[in-house]
Amino acid sequence: MTDAESRYERIEIPEEHPEDRVNDFREVLHSYTREEAMLEAQRCLQCALPFCVEACPITQDCRGYIGLVAHGQFDAAARLTLRENPLATTLCKVCYHYCEDACIMRGRGVPIAIRHIKRAALEHGNSNLEYRHSAPKHERIAIIGAGPAGIMAAWELCLRGYSVTIFEKQSAVGGQAGAIPHYRMPHHELLIDLQRFRDFDLTFSEGKTAGVDYTPESLLAEGYRAVFVAIGASKASYPGIPGENLPCVLPALDFLYDVNQGRPVVLGKRIVVIGGGDVAVDAVRTARRISPGAEVTMAYRRTRGESPAGEEELRETEPEGIAFRWLLSPLKVLGTDRVEGVVFQEMELSAPDASGRRAVRPVEGRTVTLGCDTVIMAIGEKADLTGFRPELGLKIGNKGWPEGRPADYMTAVEGIFAAGGRSVVHAMAAGTRAADAIDAYLARKAGRPATPKPDPYGEGASPPQVPDGYSSPVWKP
Ligand SMILES: Cc1cc2nc3c(=O)[nH]c(=O)nc-3n(C[C@H](O)[C@H](O)[C@H](O)COP(=O)(O)OP(=O)(O)OC[C@H]3O[C@@H](n4cnc5c(N)ncnc54)[C@H](O)[C@@H]3O)c2cc1C
Ligand code: SF4
Ligand code: SF4
Repeated sequence: MTDAESRYERIEIPEEHPEDRVNDFREVLHSYTREEAMLEAQRCLQCALPFCVEACPITQDCRGYIGLVAHGQFDAAARLTLRENPLATTLCKVCYHYCEDACIMRGRGVPIAIRHIKRAALEHGNSNLEYRHSAPKHERIAIIGAGPAGIMAAWELCLRGYSVTIFEKQSAVGGQAGAIPHYRMPHHELLIDLQRFRDFDLTFSEGKTAGVDYTPESLLAEGYRAVFVAIGASKASYPGIPGENLPCVLPALDFLYDVNQGRPVVLGKRIVVIGGGDVAVDAVRTARRISPGAEVTMAYRRTRGESPAGEEELRETEPEGIAFRWLLSPLKVLGTDRVEGVVFQEMELSAPDASGRRAVRPVEGRTVTLGCDTVIMAIGEKADLTGFRPELGLKIGNKGWPEGRPADYMTAVEGIFAAGGRSVVHAMAAGTRAADAIDAYLARKAGRPATPKPDPYGEGASPPQVPDGYSSPVWKP
C-alpha cells in the first residue's frame, strides 16, 4: 500500500469477539495502543477550516489533540482535551462523534477515528488533572438534575466562582448516562470525570425530587440566586395500546438503569423490544447478556435504513444473536395476567417525499404476532413535570425535555432556566449556554459585567500546548 492509500484506511479498533462478549458486560471496544493512535492521528489533514470542530456541539478542539497525538505528545493532548471538555472520559466512550460525520476524510474514505483518539489521549496521557475555581462570588445557584446538562452548567458556574448545589432525585448522578450499559462504558467513567471537580464549591444533594420535596420557586425563596431545571426526559413513553400495562411490560430506561445499578431484573425466555433507536439497541443487547439462551427480538416500525440508532451500534449488535424485525408497528400486547405475545401491524415504505424521506404506512389487513413472555418498551422518553407549577411555562416539546425561551433558556419565571439535550454532548452544550445566560442575568442584576470564562486550570496556568505551526481553528468562537 502506498503512503497516499494508507491515509484512507482507518487503523482498526480492536474489539471483543461477539461469542465471548455476550456472556457478560465486558467492554466491547478496546483502546488504541500509543503507536496505533499516533498512526491514526497522522492520517488527519489538519484542515485550516476543520469541519470536525465546527460539528462538535461543544466545539472541542479535536484537531488540536489529534495533532498532538500524531507527534506522540499524549500529556499535552489530554490537557487540551480536558480544558474544554470536563466529561471527556465519558465522551471518549459514548459520544456519537458528530465530528467524524463532518470530517473531510469521510468523503475520501473513512473519517479519522476522532473519539478513539480522544480516548487514547486520556488513557496514554496524564488525565489526572484538577479544575480550579476563581475567586468566590458568594452567590448560590441551584441546579435540578445531575445529568450532563446539569453537570456541565455546574462546571461553568463553579469555574466562575459561584457556589452550586445540584439536586437529584436518584441516588446516583449522571442522569440518562447512568443507563448506558457497561459493555459500552464502565460505570466509573463519569466518576473519573467528576474527580477533577474536587476543588469546586459544588454539592450534590441526591434523593431529592423537585415537585415533591421542593420546587424551583422554593429554591429561589431559600436564597438561591438562580435555578437551572435540567431534568431531562426520565419518564418512558408508551404507545397507548391494549395490554401495555401488563406485568412484564418494562420501560427500557428503568430496565437499563436497574441492570446498571445491580438491582435484580428477571426477564423471560422470549423477549421482544419495541423501538428502533439507540435505547432499543441497548435494551436488546442488555437483555441478551442477562438472559443467556433467551430469544431476543427487536421490532421497529421502519426499516434499518430509517432506524434512528447509530450505524456503529447496529453494526456491533448484528453479530450478537439478536433477531431484527423491521416494518412492524405494535397494535396490542396479548395476555390477561401475564404477557403472551404482541400483535403488530405490518408496515411498508411509501415513495420518497420532496425531502427524499420515506414515510411508512400500514399494509391493509396484514398483521404479525410474535409470541413472547417479556416486552421492553423503547419508543421514547419525556420529562416528568409532576409538581411543577404551570406558571413556569415549562412545556415538553417533541424533544422530550423542558426548555426555556430559545434566546437564553429563561422560563416564564425570572431567575429560573431550563434546558436539556438529545445526547450527552448536546446536553453539555445546553448546560454551557444556560450557565452563560445565568451569569449574564446575575451580572445584569448586580450592575457588573458578565464574568469572562476563566482558565479551567486556574489563573496563571500555562497556555495549552499545541502542535508546531498550529493556528487556532477558524470555527472556534
Ligand atoms: C439507555 C440510553 C443510552 C444512551 N446512550 C447515549 C450514548 O451512547 N451517547 C450519548 O451521547 N447519549 C446517549 N444517551 C442520551 C443521553 O444520555 C442524554 O441525551 C443525556 O443524558 C441528556 O442529558 P440531560 O442532562 O439533559 O438529562 P438527563 O441525563 O435525563 O438528566 C436529568 C436528571 O434529572 C433528574 N431528574 C428528573 N426529574 C427530576 C426531579 N423532579 N427532581 C430532581 N431530579 C430530577 C433525573 O433523575 C436525571 O438524573 C442515552 C440515553 C439512554 C436512555
Ligand atoms: S465530544 Fe464528541 S463530537 Fe465533540 S470532538 Fe469529541 S467525539 Fe467529537
Ligand atoms: S476534518 Fe478534522 S479530523 Fe478530519 S482531516 Fe480535517 S482536521 Fe482532521
